[in-house]
Amino acid sequence: MTRVHILATGGTIAGIGPSQVDPAYRAGGLSVDVLVDAVPGLRDVATLTGEQFSQVGSQDMRDDLWLALAARVNTLFSADEADGVVVTHGTDTAEETGYFLHLVVKSEKPVVLTGSMRPATALSADGPLNLFNAVSVAADPHARGRGTIVAVNDDLHSARDVTKSSTTDVQAFVSPGPGLLGTASYGRIRYFRHPTHVHTRATEFSVDGRYSLPRVDILYAHANMPADLVRASVALGAQGIVIAGMGNGNVPAGVAHALTDAAGAGIAVVRSSRVGSGDVGRNIEVDDDGLGLVASDQLNPQKSRVLLQLCLAHGLQGRSLQDAFYRY
Ligand code: ASP
Repeated sequence: MTRVHILATGGTIAGIGPSQVDPAYRAGGLSVDVLVDAVPGLRDVATLTGEQFSQVGSQDMRDDLWLALAARVNTLFSADEADGVVVTHGTDTAEETGYFLHLVVKSEKPVVLTGSMRPATALSADGPLNLFNAVSVAADPHARGRGTIVAVNDDLHSARDVTKSSTTDVQAFVSPGPGLLGTASYGRIRYFRHPTHVHTRATEFSVDGRYSLPRVDILYAHANMPADLVRASVALGAQGIVIAGMGNGNVPAGVAHALTDAAGAGIAVVRSSRVGSGDVGRNIEVDDDGLGLVASDQLNPQKSRVLLQLCLAHGLQGRSLQDAFYRY
């Protein structure tokens, strides 16, 4: 049987509430063994091993945990200890962790992130079926070469494209633009496509020997946005700034001036959008060429931050940064 290793990081899938019908709960309370034992037939899908990597709500995910998680996945594959890896994770930042792994795991073997919207103790908890599907995908030879996959609520998303779109619905994830990678129904898997952009072994990114990443801040644009937020970010040591801009990555004129100053001082500035779907194009309403700014293309602000951190860690600057946003 195929060998699947589960790395449990916490999240609502391991959450414990006071009763089956109380919406309050504590994320990350249950261990990986309890999660596995709650899923009937899971040990028939693959030869399972499990490991408690962390026990955090994913709002507490950090750069150092991403680096350690990626390093662990790479070791599992390079030492041939697993044919596929499942990461159980909170849903809040699953898209960021997933995209990070998509860019730095150096293997064709599948990495599948899953989580749940309802805690493990809730009536109609969604975690067990999500875990069943995630293990099924990780054990599937056809999942190879598709990068990191997020398996939730019977849908399979490319980690590059997925984003959380509901705070509370069980159907909480969408892949705007490129759409679903596939579906999974009680372990029966269908793929619709391959990832559209460069990932895993084909990227220039590596986590080897890294224990931190450059500071990149996200600033959320709005009507009347004050420009001093940009200056504060620079003063606090940000090496990169991602703007969650209005519409096609727009900001008020005063903020644009402050961003131009920041870019002139060597801070990498990426214009993304707070809208949630659609592209941010270069030189549309903003003169990116003249001002030295980068357009995020299809990446939302939180994913732009992940890519920019990796780019800065690898010394990419200027036009190479823009190329990276088109390539990844
Ligand atoms: N706050 C939780 C987390 O991200 C939410 C969830 O898992 O659904 O860990």
